Amino acid sequence: MSDRTPQWGKVRLDGLRGGEQITRNLTMAMTGDKIPHAILIVGSPGTGKTTLAHAIANAAMCSSPVRGSPCGVCTACKMIIQGTAPELTYIAPDDKGLIPVNIVRRAIEAMQLKPAYAARKVVIVDDCDAMNAQAQNAFLKTLEEPPATGMLILTTSHPDTLLPTVISRVSRFDIDRASEEETISYIASEHPAYYAQAHFLHTYTGGATGQIDRICADPGFMELRDTCLSHFTAMVSDGPDAAFLFAEWLEREQDKEDHILHMLMTFYSDLLMLQVGFVDRVANRDYQAKLSPLLEFVDADKCLKGTAAIDEYRRRRRAMVNISLCCGALGVALTVAKGT
Ligand SMILES: [Zn+2]
Repeated sequence: MSDRTPQWGKVRLDGLRGGEQITRNLTMAMTGDKIPHAILIVGSPGTGKTTLAHAIANAAMCSSPVRGSPCGVCTACKMIIQGTAPELTYIAPDDKGLIPVNIVRRAIEAMQLKPAYAARKVVIVDDCDAMNAQAQNAFLKTLEEPPATGMLILTTSHPDTLLPTVISRVSRFDIDRASEEETISYIASEHPAYYAQAHFLHTYTGGATGQIDRICADPGFMELRDTCLSHFTAMVSDGPDAAFLFAEWLEREQDKEDHILHMLMTFYSDLLMLQVGFVDRVANRDYQAKLSPLLEFVDADKCLKGTAAIDEYRRRRRAMVNISLCCGALGVALTVAKGT
């Protein structure tokens, strides 16, 4: 199906890190008789949605769960651990980032049958926003009249792109983000080399440990951030040459475009915070000595113009405007945002 298909393993509801509240609520739901037939897990990338979906699936399929957690020894549990459970269907976006309607239809048909080896048949649709309206509509009838032994688990980072008719028919669980203390202690134990940037990483990722792991595993990330700050500093304090150099760089690094735009946004937001004296809200705390002098060039109005220019860049890119034009326009806008 997709190389994102996760490794099956023994995942337990009570063993999940973070999201204690949702884990508690779900454990309660799974221990009663009123196990929901359709669950939507909402959270940022890297918050553990897929892991949680599997934990729920395993608990729902287990023949003799213990306090809402799978027993690990029944036939269903063994099959899940071995990755051979025919009662569990995992669907994720294909290489084009889509979930085709025919795959959805096949999974729903299979769900109508009685399970042979497990308490329930479960279908997981990871990143379910990759379903188009047609595929989402295919789900509606099942959501309205779910088979007694069927369960649907959807995950998404973008709940606003789902049909309201889908949203209204599922039990929704939003994964709590880790607190700053949790993130800092996580970084101290898992990525001690990044301890000085722990505050930035918490703000930048919203405490999503999966994202933090990816960033810390990428040796170029902090260098990218340094380079981004250099370009930003040059643009807001120097002028047209800086805009041109930035545009060239952004086009060259377009596979890192999301990070670059996100970083620029944090610089503007930090300048705003510094302006009003909310020093503890500054994301790039380790850059504070470099950002503060820029207040001479960037006031609140220019911060807002700068962030609007970044939004406009995103809009143009989605509209498939030529990349060089987009990069050039953003460079000019950020330099002009210096205000002349
Ligand atoms: Zn079991």
